[in-house]
Amino acid sequence: MEIVFLGSGGGRFITITQMRSTGGFFLKSSKNIYVDPGPGALVRSWRYKIDPRKLDAIFVSHRHVDHCNDTEVMVEGMTIGVTKKRGILIASKSVVEGDETHTPAISKYHLDSLEEIYVVKPGDKIKLGEDEMSITPSVHSDPTTIGFRLKTKEGYISYIPDTEYFKELKEIHEGSRVIIASVTRPKDMKIPYHLTVEDVVYMLKDMKEKPELFIMSHVGMKMHFANPYKEAQFIQNVTGVKTIVAKEGLRVRITENEITLKTLRPIRNV
Ligand SMILES: [Zn+2]
Repeated sequence: MEIVFLGSGGGRFITITQMRSTGGFFLKSSKNIYVDPGPGALVRSWRYKIDPRKLDAIFVSHRHVDHCNDTEVMVEGMTIGVTKKRGILIASKSVVEGDETHTPAISKYHLDSLEEIYVVKPGDKIKLGEDEMSITPSVHSDPTTIGFRLKTKEGYISYIPDTEYFKELKEIHEGSRVIIASVTRPKDMKIPYHLTVEDVVYMLKDMKEKPELFIMSHVGMKMHFANPYKEAQFIQNVTGVKTIVAKEGLRVRITENEITLKTLRPIRNV
């Protein structure tokens, strides 16, 4: 299986300046799954020859614009321009229904074009070809935010989107080979509802079965200027877990025996 990142940025200020792109990531396993299509997801996908018409499913963790902005346009891709009823949407309640302060992130027109819609909560399980996705909890300002743990034939892959640290996080994601997490803040700069570098150290240190690779994504402005690569090195030194920072075009290939990294070359549109 493989994962291609279409961005590594998150938070308001990185998003509006695009100092890091905010397209989320693409996961190719027994199904083609797009995860958190933030602003630029469609444009960045084509840069790496990821064709949205070949998607089988879209996962949207919550109704914040840096995670869900391109949901409708990616659904248009998946449904071949709304000409075919196809594809699966797996999303938080807030994405599909909206909440007190947000309209839904997807119109009825787009919802009607989908084959299956799962408005999920922690503990739910969804079969995706030969893989199984377990929905995991988050503690975030959007209280319906969800993450996942995907069981594949190459092992477990975890996605921890925006969340504050909570005790169960470690237990839920223990034993995953790869963990991708929104680590918004560097050391000594905690804010509510987001993970900091200390939280990650605490989580990984405590895991008996540690991941082979930890990927920091959703780099916020404070992290961007604090030097995320140094922060990643710190996590790696203290926990012994190989830690990297996501970037646009990074491909992570996972086989039974090894995990390899490559930076793909973008193609530019004229
Ligand atoms: Zn958020």
